[in-house]
Amino acid sequence: MKLVFASNNKNKIAEIQSILNGSIQLLSLKEIGCHEDIPETAATIEGNAILKADYVTQNYGYDCFADDTGLEVTALNGEPGVYSARYAGEQKNADDNMNKLLDALSDKSDRSAQFKTVIALNLNGKQHLFTGIAKGNITLNKTGNGGFGYDPIFQPENYKETFAELPLEIKNKIGHRGKATQQLIDFLNTTK
Ligand code: IMP
Repeated sequence: MKLVFASNNKNKIAEIQSILNGSIQLLSLKEIGCHEDIPETAATIEGNAILKADYVTQNYGYDCFADDTGLEVTALNGEPGVYSARYAGEQKNADDNMNKLLDALSDKSDRSAQFKTVIALNLNGKQHLFTGIAKGNITLNKTGNGGFGYDPIFQPENYKETFAELPLEIKNKIGHRGKATQQLIDFLNTTK
């Protein structure tokens, strides 16, 4: 079975391919000749994952899955959410985004937040959604050099460190993207 991952991130694709059973061959967007920017214009994280997966299935005819992630902060009514990448502007700069968030929380006592990843899978004419959540708190300052995005200010629950201080194996195990991906893999490995 051929399945497109609506991504050109070689590391992500290789990692998922290695965990799938041999009957599923993952293809990147490049490999199916899709070089355009897929629109991410939905109002929700779920909506964007669906938009990307549907774009590939409708325009290229392949079964496909796509992911979308956002950071939802309780005291900000779920913001930045679907706008996480461009929270501080179209330059999509991680430092600017973190500074804006720390600023927005400066007068709030509730610093709880969660990362949410949704994977939309189109398979054999049906759509399936898989959601991974990592709960935690936004720290007062940036700490750690690992990871990306908001990792230096996100402290997952039950840990003293931020995602940027934790080894990648731990982040993958307790993290939003790892949890959603594991559900997808379990589903695919029992499907064929
Ligand atoms: P994407 O949907 O995976 O592109 O994620 C959207 C945005 O959410 C990214 O640009 C980051 O700002 C943020 N983000 C997603 N995943 C993570 C993560 O694992 N750690 C920190 N920030 C993340």
